[in-house]
Amino acid sequence: MQHNRIIALAFAVAIVLIIITYNSDSQGNSTVNDLEKNTKNITENTNEKDTMNFEIKKSEDVWKDELSEEEYRILRGKGTERAFSGKYNLHFEGGEYLCAGCGNTIFDSDTKYSSHCGWPSFYDVDSSKVKTVEDRSYGMVRTEVVCAKCGGHLGHVFKDGPEPTGLRYCINSVSIKFKKDTTENK
Ligand SMILES: [Zn+2]
Repeated sequence: MQHNRIIALAFAVAIVLIIITYNSDSQGNSTVNDLEKNTKNITENTNEKDTMNFEIKKSEDVWKDELSEEEYRILRGKGTERAFSGKYNLHFEGGEYLCAGCGNTIFDSDTKYSSHCGWPSFYDVDSSKVKTVEDRSYGMVRTEVVCAKCGGHLGHVFKDGPEPTGLRYCINSVSIKFKKDTTENK
């Protein structure tokens, strides 16, 4: 009898341990907040730029030839235009924004909003159009946003944007080119 009780007790302890283990796992997962879920796709490519394969590959000389000096400085050299200086900062026409390096359609004007930060800001993007890279320059840890096709530097993404994504894609006007929506009923 005593022996059976010990076995029953051991069994009960084992079950409790399994439950505790399971709960701590799911608690770990539940600490991932909605914002992080939203940014999961964005950040999972972080740090992969060196090994990223971009469809469009050109030598620096060719890029220098094709781009203006300012475009080259920003798109290929990760530069930043002066705040409030960009032509699309306060531009709110309906249409699309293409990569200035390769013409890849990237942002939709529907997701553009006034963030007052001094650069064109979007709260969403089709995740297949961009890649993100951890950027530790200037003593900050930021998430760089590059064109998925040519690797051109577009800007950075921050987690202080509006709902529903909570994201702010802070983009250089120089890195994008606006294409007006010419379809009716937009
Ligand atoms: Zn591009």
